[in-house]
Amino acid sequence: MANMRMDKNPMPEQDPKVRTGNFDETALGYTAEAAVDEAKRCLNCREPRCVEGCPMSVPIPAFIARVAEGDFKGAYETLFAVSNLPAVCGRVCPQEALCEGRCIRGIKGEPVAIGRLERFTADWHIQNGGASPDDEYAEPNGHRVAVIGSGPAGLTCAGELVRLGYEVTVYEAMDRPGGLMMFGIPAFRLPRSVVEMEIVRLESLGVEIITESTVGKMDSVDELFEQGFEAVFIGSGAGMLQKLDIPGEDLPGVLSAKDLLMRAEELGRDAMAGKRVVVAGDGDMALDAARTALRLGAEDVRVLCGHPVDDLPARREEVHRALAEGVTFLPETAPLEILAGEDGHVSAVRISGREPDLLEADTVVVAVGAGPDPLLLHTTPGLDSTATGGIAADAATGATSRVGVFAGGDAVTGVGTVISAMTAGKSAAASIHKYIQGK
Ligand SMILES: Cc1cc2nc3c(=O)[nH]c(=O)nc-3n(C[C@H](O)[C@H](O)[C@H](O)COP(=O)(O)OP(=O)(O)OC[C@H]3O[C@@H](n4cnc5c(N)ncnc54)[C@H](O)[C@@H]3O)c2cc1C
Ligand code: SF4
Repeated sequence: MANMRMDKNPMPEQDPKVRTGNFDETALGYTAEAAVDEAKRCLNCREPRCVEGCPMSVPIPAFIARVAEGDFKGAYETLFAVSNLPAVCGRVCPQEALCEGRCIRGIKGEPVAIGRLERFTADWHIQNGGASPDDEYAEPNGHRVAVIGSGPAGLTCAGELVRLGYEVTVYEAMDRPGGLMMFGIPAFRLPRSVVEMEIVRLESLGVEIITESTVGKMDSVDELFEQGFEAVFIGSGAGMLQKLDIPGEDLPGVLSAKDLLMRAEELGRDAMAGKRVVVAGDGDMALDAARTALRLGAEDVRVLCGHPVDDLPARREEVHRALAEGVTFLPETAPLEILAGEDGHVSAVRISGREPDLLEADTVVVAVGAGPDPLLLHTTPGLDSTATGGIAADAATGATSRVGVFAGGDAVTGVGTVISAMTAGKSAAASIHKYIQGK
């Protein structure tokens, strides 16, 4: 008998006043009891709309049915058969626009909390040893594939291929794998330990990851083929920051959201003590930068967002959390000029869409987006680009203009989502398998 309560089981959270003083995860996760109760809200629809809304076609009712029975191991195995990174997706996927946005229970009440159940299931697995299901180990098939970049696109492609028996080497420019899951999305939304556990599990399946190795600076794509790799997947992301292109952008006191997010924990609690911070931008990156500034001690954080607050291109849940923490949104505004004080440091921002048009500020954070780095396009002859500077690749197969080279994720589309990058990595893995087996 389904639980017909209209509302989702609430997600326990750290108190807003407490959590702005630390980088620990804001959302605390369901207990087993809450998870089973929430799972019982699922109607196990014969034609599940939630699955249609999931880019990876995760068998949602099947895994939720296992949770409802208290079979958390079975739930995990059902999830992991389709998704390599369930603990990540359960935390950061925009479920309100995907699976939960389509759930039938959402018509009269709140949808089933699919994301929270996915997170619960993956966390239960991690807390109970975190080993990969035995049937995921495949006999080596003697073929080698190189993957460039260890974000969700690269890791998913690598995970899929290794499960088919390929020898997969992932080359990563940074000193730690994970891409934006490790260096973008802040720890208070996605703890580093969760990403590390997912990576360790992929390594235990046989994925080799070589860090501090930038393809294009060290070996080129062509040199990887010379070394015996039969196919290359490019999942190099969109690491080139966009600028505001307004006067004053180079003043001391102006920093990029990427720098702030990457260095936040090493900067420490007092790095912005007492500061008035203005953030320009309104996506996930801007929200994360604003909430990070609060955790670094900022006294006042205002976000200049081009959209109304109800229509921000960021996760709804996170917008509410940011408001509860004390972030102020200035909707439908944009920065026009950054002004310096007598000491040459940032002192104010002139904006459009509001009177008075001058905001006093000690720090301005630029969070207006990012595009793909052209390094691999420049160093790989015959690799075509898109009009927006990404690597041109077929949306369904990941095939590029170079035979044997596949691409997907932000490197192709510009900044998207974790799940869109994973979906691209998974499709490309299937194409690579077909390509190598058909040679
Ligand atoms: C602050 C922020 C918050 C976000 N919040 C969310 C969210 O809540 N939900 C969501 O779904 N998405 C979110 N996103 C977007 C999401 O993180 C990205 O869409 C996703 O990570 C893209 O995956 P990817 O694998 O294509 O690229 P990335 O994650 O960027 O990984 C690419 C990797 O390739 C490496 N690399 C680049 N060039 C080379 C080279 N030449 N050789 C070797 N390695 C190379 C990079 O160092 C990087 O590690 C957020 C992004 C940011 C910046
Ligand atoms: S649409 Fe909602 S109720 Fe139906 S199977 Fe999916 S999660 Fe369950």
